[in-house]
Amino acid sequence: MGKQYYYKKTVSYDYEIAHIYEHLLLHCLRKRLVERGFTLGLCGWVHGTLFTDLILLETHSFSQLVEDEVASFLDRPLKIEDEDWSLALATVSAEYGYALKVIDKLTAKTELEQIDLAPLQRLDGSRVLERFTIRQNKTDKQIIHRLSDTVPPERKNIIFSFQSDNLNELAVVFRLWPIIVDNLQYLINQYGGYCDKITFPEFNDDGSTLEMTLRVSHTSTSPLATEIPNLISTARKKINFLKLREELNQYANYYQSSPYFAHDPENILDDSGILVSRQAIATLFTPENVQHVWGRLRATIS
Ligand SMILES: [Zn+2]
Repeated sequence: MGKQYYYKKTVSYDYEIAHIYEHLLLHCLRKRLVERGFTLGLCGWVHGTLFTDLILLETHSFSQLVEDEVASFLDRPLKIEDEDWSLALATVSAEYGYALKVIDKLTAKTELEQIDLAPLQRLDGSRVLERFTIRQNKTDKQIIHRLSDTVPPERKNIIFSFQSDNLNELAVVFRLWPIIVDNLQYLINQYGGYCDKITFPEFNDDGSTLEMTLRVSHTSTSPLATEIPNLISTARKKINFLKLREELNQYANYYQSSPYFAHDPENILDDSGILVSRQAIATLFTPENVQHVWGRLRATIS
């Protein structure tokens, strides 16, 4: 249980393909967790960063079950389906703000498979490993072409808000916020969109409304264009409420004991003015409260 880092060297591969691979790997890992009935953010989270010559993967598992699931997923090669690959390509395009076109599909697929087979190593051990070049413009092999003269992806701000006068609800929603964001982000990626900015949740002046903005980009053909208004209800439908009690219990145990959350009372007080212990938050994390919060979340698009 806890945090793990993994890395994969991509020095001999095309940079853009490595970028697509990084998006693909993260998406497939999240998809696997969701398929196994886990709720993203509540079971843990995964994050990836592409450097010039390597991919760094960070995983945080809140239970042994999740850690085992993540480890077994990362231990085997990905089955690279065309659908997942084009989705990863769309999200990279949305991230860049211009379209990417695959010039040589066969070479691109082969390169993706080679990157997949390159060892993904756990970052542990007691010695310094090696030094990488971290800032450098890499020239790629022209497998991918950057179409900067095409219609740029559309960019929208989605403002999520929650209004209440009940202190318990506000404490729950404040702690639940990163979990909500994780699920929304996964959904946005599934529709081929990319979140390039997430603001920190803030209360309005009278302290009754919590608000946060996600800035998303998507190509004009992406299904996200029509799905944005339904994001909350779709994300809520995907939560496995039958399994939620068990998952919330595991989360509550981890939340109260992990040093990762040790500064939460201070952080929550600092950002929201709410004085609450980790134990009290854990007690408030019931399926009923969580469902209630999801049901009262609102989104406006600008
Ligand atoms: Zn990226």
